Amino acid sequence: MSHNIAIDGPAGAGKSTIARIVSDKLGFIYVDTGAMYRAMALYMIREGVDPADEQMVARKALEPDITIRHEDGVQVVILNGENVNDLIRTAQVSDMASKTSLVGDLRKQLVSLQQKLAADADVVMDGRDIGTVVLPGADLKIYLDASVHVRALRRYNEMLEKGEEAVLEDIEKDIEERDYRDMNRQESPLRKAKGAVLVDSSDMTIEEVADTIISEYQKTLK
Ligand code: C5P
Repeated sequence: MSHNIAIDGPAGAGKSTIARIVSDKLGFIYVDTGAMYRAMALYMIREGVDPADEQMVARKALEPDITIRHEDGVQVVILNGENVNDLIRTAQVSDMASKTSLVGDLRKQLVSLQQKLAADADVVMDGRDIGTVVLPGADLKIYLDASVHVRALRRYNEMLEKGEEAVLEDIEKDIEERDYRDMNRQESPLRKAKGAVLVDSSDMTIEEVADTIISEYQKTLK
């Protein structure tokens, strides 16, 4: 039996950074499910799909072949044979992913792929519905949160470091909109899973959050 840790939470709470550290420390594989929704969104953009047309999104979701590979410990997302890692982090893809991930048939496709990955290996998996839908029986479920302001500030600083232009108020608004969509959708809304441990990272360092999660995991082994 494989061991699994599920980490859910809103955009910008630091899930992927933390999940990467925790998986390295425990020797688990990190699976970033958001990247799978992003690869699907990139496909929809390329196909000119209107995200408001749910039937079209559902139909189109059956077409692409999305897989995950790990190369030197780095997750590589493959869309129809192409490594799309460098193409899925744009604001356009973020927006499309948040809109198309509302569609149940699209989610079904990706959830079954995620469940297969977790059955075959020890994984730390992060997303919005991992503890509630994908891996409700995970050894440990974490709900990682932080205030909107702190999350926006982190994103703002990241963008400035990359030399990109950024307006803090715009980022806050964007995060609020994505939170609203993720938390209020009918299909698998973002919420704390039953039995999940709440970790609020607003006033914690990355190391403190990672250590908290690892010590919670160690408790499950006793
Ligand atoms: O986590 P990330 O920002 O990369 O996710 C992109 C979008 O994919 C999110 O806004 C969310 O709507 C969707 N998503 C989801 N379920 C997941 C992971 C991501 O609906 N398990």
